Amino acid sequence: MTAGDFYARFGVRRRINAAGALTRLGGMPMAPEVTNAMVEASRGSIDIAELQSAASRIVAAVTGAEAGMVTTGASAALTLAAAACMTGWDVARMAALPDASTFPREILLPRTHRTAYAQALRTAGARLIDIGHNDRGTGAGVRGLEPWEIEAAITPATAAFMFAATPATTHDLPMVVATCRVRGLPVIVDAAAQLPPKGNLRRFFELGADLVAFSGGKAIGGPQASGILAGRRDLVGAALLQQLDMDVPPDSWDPPSPIDRAALRGVPHHGIGRGFKAGKEEIVGLLVALERFVAADDAANNAGLEARLRAIGERLAGKSGLKGMLRTAQVTGRTPLFELVVDSAQTGVDAPGLARRLLAGDPPVHLSERRSAEGILLLDPQALAPSDDAPLVAAILAALDDRT
Ligand SMILES: *Cc1c(COP(=O)(O)O)cnc(C)c1O
Repeated sequence: MTAGDFYARFGVRRRINAAGALTRLGGMPMAPEVTNAMVEASRGSIDIAELQSAASRIVAAVTGAEAGMVTTGASAALTLAAAACMTGWDVARMAALPDASTFPREILLPRTHRTAYAQALRTAGARLIDIGHNDRGTGAGVRGLEPWEIEAAITPATAAFMFAATPATTHDLPMVVATCRVRGLPVIVDAAAQLPPKGNLRRFFELGADLVAFSGGKAIGGPQASGILAGRRDLVGAALLQQLDMDVPPDSWDPPSPIDRAALRGVPHHGIGRGFKAGKEEIVGLLVALERFVAADDAANNAGLEARLRAIGERLAGKSGLKGMLRTAQVTGRTPLFELVVDSAQTGVDAPGLARRLLAGDPPVHLSERRSAEGILLLDPQALAPSDDAPLVAAILAALDDRT
């Protein structure tokens, strides 16, 4: 049976996804090598801690970080990162979370870096401290975050600094790291969707990040419920301890690296991340996907996606009221995009209206609505099957002709 058959059997509609590797649409399609590896992995018994230790070596080799672990997504990685920064190796603190009221639990978060994923930090028991202004974002001014604003916010209750990496924010990372390092404050980087370029697997560590979260179900092409937390060995070890099942015999428990048994005054119980357990299938699938992602030819992939977008754009260009512009990977700093500009005076429908019509179609078609208020719909080809290119064009043209 194909995937389509299973979904049909369960009464779930297939969708055309030109909105990107979105979690709520199932992320990226997985390569057969990855799914085969997951099936193989499902058949044997192994020690999950030993498998995570192997994952740590592989992630370390690929990222340049000291250690790494497979999580159930970047969001879970952020929760575990926050937990690790609050507990270190202290098993009593691990046992106390999410109640962190008796030890440092504040995480500094610039207003320009606040995304809805900040909730992932709060989930561990952290308290968010908003700092700085958003003058550039609002167009009110030219200034970004200043070192003194970070220094002034650091108190004995501060546990970490949260940095949301984007092509626009990354140039601030060395300043943030330099300011936080003097005070011994770890910097957590959310780089969930900053791949490709694959150089970003190493870049944030080269710039000094202590912990970095990547999504496994986006560009890496791993299982949808997978991610990576990589960074300092002590912090990754503390994070891993709080994700692993800890129903272990204390006398014989001998955990592998990056867990440091000697740094622990006892054996922790199930931690804050126990509900985010990564199974052997996710761990192996993520590792195989990561190897493929690292070996892939970014330039060739981008050229292929750009050629497809150009062809799609040409087929849409004949329609009055539609204009388009290809944004190459070079311009976006990530993957190529096609900007579809909807002139509602000519088409009779505005961008949000067109998106609504496409979603009401059969199959439903998803474009990115991030800029729909500006009259622009984005075609993101990351998760778009090549066989859906022609149906996508047909659906957009049909939705424009829809006068109902
Ligand atoms: C997608 C995303 C996440 C969450 O990633 P998951 O792997 O789905 O948990 C977190 N932060 C940002 C910025 C993202 O884009």
